[in-house]
Amino acid sequence: MSTLIDLANLIFPNINLTIDDLEKKYPVRDLKEGAMVTRFAPSPTGFLHTGSLFTSLISYRLAKQSGGVFYIRLEDTDTKREIEGSGADLVKQLNYFGIIPDEGYINDDLEKGNYGPYKQSARADIYKVVIKELIKKGRAYPCFCSASDLEELRNYQIQNKITPGYYGKYAKCRNLSPDEAISLIKEGKPYIIRFKSMGNEQNKIKIHDEIRGDLELTENYQDIVILKSDGLPTYHFAHLVDDHFMHTTHVTRGEEWLASLPIHIELFNTVGFKLPKYAHLPVIMKEENGNRRKLSKRKDNEAAVSYFISEGYPKYALIEYLLTLANSNYEEWREQNLDKSYNDFILSFNKMSLDGALFDIEKIANIAKERLAYKKASEVEEELKEWAKTYDNNFYQKIINNEEYIIAILNIDREKAKPRKDYAKYSDIYPLIKFFYNDEFKKLVANGYEWNSEKDKLEIIEILTYYKDNYNLASDESLWFNDLKEMCPKFNYAANTKDYKKNKELYKGHVGDIAEYLRVAMTTKKNSPNLYAILNILGKEEVIRRINLAIKSLEA
Ligand code: GLU
Repeated sequence: MSTLIDLANLIFPNINLTIDDLEKKYPVRDLKEGAMVTRFAPSPTGFLHTGSLFTSLISYRLAKQSGGVFYIRLEDTDTKREIEGSGADLVKQLNYFGIIPDEGYINDDLEKGNYGPYKQSARADIYKVVIKELIKKGRAYPCFCSASDLEELRNYQIQNKITPGYYGKYAKCRNLSPDEAISLIKEGKPYIIRFKSMGNEQNKIKIHDEIRGDLELTENYQDIVILKSDGLPTYHFAHLVDDHFMHTTHVTRGEEWLASLPIHIELFNTVGFKLPKYAHLPVIMKEENGNRRKLSKRKDNEAAVSYFISEGYPKYALIEYLLTLANSNYEEWREQNLDKSYNDFILSFNKMSLDGALFDIEKIANIAKERLAYKKASEVEEELKEWAKTYDNNFYQKIINNEEYIIAILNIDREKAKPRKDYAKYSDIYPLIKFFYNDEFKKLVANGYEWNSEKDKLEIIEILTYYKDNYNLASDESLWFNDLKEMCPKFNYAANTKDYKKNKELYKGHVGDIAEYLRVAMTTKKNSPNLYAILNILGKEEVIRRINLAIKSLEA
């Protein structure tokens, strides 16, 4: 008569290590009291989701602020859904946002740290060591049920209003004797490995979640699959083995995993591994027509982190926004600590919201405007250049062609007490300032000037001609504006708007109209950044050339 040991040896003939050997190979980490070991465990199935950036940011900060370790583990056990190269891309994108792991997977040929491999597909033998011991203990078994057997079972359960699943008396293969199982294997019957649960559907277990507090959940009673036919584990089993041997102290993951926590608890208890702490993080939601739903890969551009990168949102704006979602006291802290880095903020579990966090792109834009406005022009230029290099080559060429020029442009209404807050993202900049570049200006002119149609063209020509003939840009904005005022009587314009408004019939216009003619001549538009700054940056020669062009078009 064969034993469970024979069965285990038949299934895993080449697995000779034991759990104890693995414990020695992956010793407890030497960290100070309270140091957290956290991880980000993405599946390489596509792009970095904004929700994943959120969970990885939290995990990263928790490790860093406690003097612990943050690592990346690539969960590539679902070979069908894997997208080539996406693992390495995820790591690169995290790096871009300043989330730099202490150890773990970097790309398919590179990883760092002593607790690897950090890619699950390279850990197959490690899982098998644990499964082999579970088989010997009678707590895991081969299951030979085919897809159609399982479907039949499911239909039967649904028809008879029985909770569906593979468990208890419905778990046909759990009762096969070692001899029976061995002969089926020898016959070549395909199988997978299941965990043998000792739980009961009627029982509740108490669980503590770092964010949600004490919870009561139904005990696990399903014989879940732990090893698939391709020799790779399921998520649940990989979580047990990896988080144990990598010594994760806090499993910080999306709240969608909360429901499977009873499975994980039974697995940890059965193998005798210490349970890590769990923090199920809120999922990012979106409001649509009054309803909340998960931020969706298919429907929402902003579900992909790459969207923010290509649109040119400053990375710190997105990160700070995610911190406001993570902890309710972040904004207040930020207002009081404007000079600090967001990395100085201490995240805490008890300030985390329990319901899904509502995503609000307007808020990111506001944060971005605030932060960008208080930066030096030269800093903004560096960030802009970096972005344009990849996403706007035309602008990039202009930037590198004359960096002083773009810095002067970016400096308009900046570096003062109340700076202008008009840019939320790098891609907002070019449309607002492109008139500074002559090739673009030419195109704008071809599309027409926004002259005030109520004014007489000849009058505008006269004023512009006078302005250019007497052009001498004053040394500061108020003196320059005085010069404009002084011109007014010559054309029967009011030198201030109030006078004009009181006695419109006495005047043909007012000083603001003169400024508008100049603005339209310089930019073709009625709205633009500060006009005095524009005149200054364009320089006398170009100002006069543009006035001449404007006059010509008015004459046409
Ligand atoms: N690979 C899992 C996921 O992408 C990881 C969940 C976890 O952090 O444990 O959802």
